[in-house]
Amino acid sequence: MHELSIAMEIVDQITEYFENSKLKKVYEVEIDIGILSGVDKDNLSFMLPFVVKGSVIENAVIRFNIIKGMANCLGCHSDFELLEIYDVCPFCHNFEKQIIQGKEFKISTILAD
Ligand SMILES: [Zn+2]
Repeated sequence: MHELSIAMEIVDQITEYFENSKLKKVYEVEIDIGILSGVDKDNLSFMLPFVVKGSVIENAVIRFNIIKGMANCLGCHSDFELLEIYDVCPFCHNFEKQIIQGKEFKISTILAD
């Protein structure tokens, strides 16, 4: 039920933002999910409709922006796409790398007025 608490957290954050502003209606919310963030997008989009009921984003469009994983190899310094956190460098098979992107999880856009 990891995604359920994440869904609740999203609604809490937006509600707080909404209450501190003079906004009347939220139209659209965009959420960045890195594929290495550990958040399951399908599970989250399944949970959200239950959690948004009665909240300020009940009628808002919720969009997910999937961010692919990228790393820089500490062996040969090549950048490569990371599908799993334990992937090795495809060029030199080194395990050691620096993750450049893909661990993000955040609300990136709120469209409201
Ligand atoms: Zn390498």
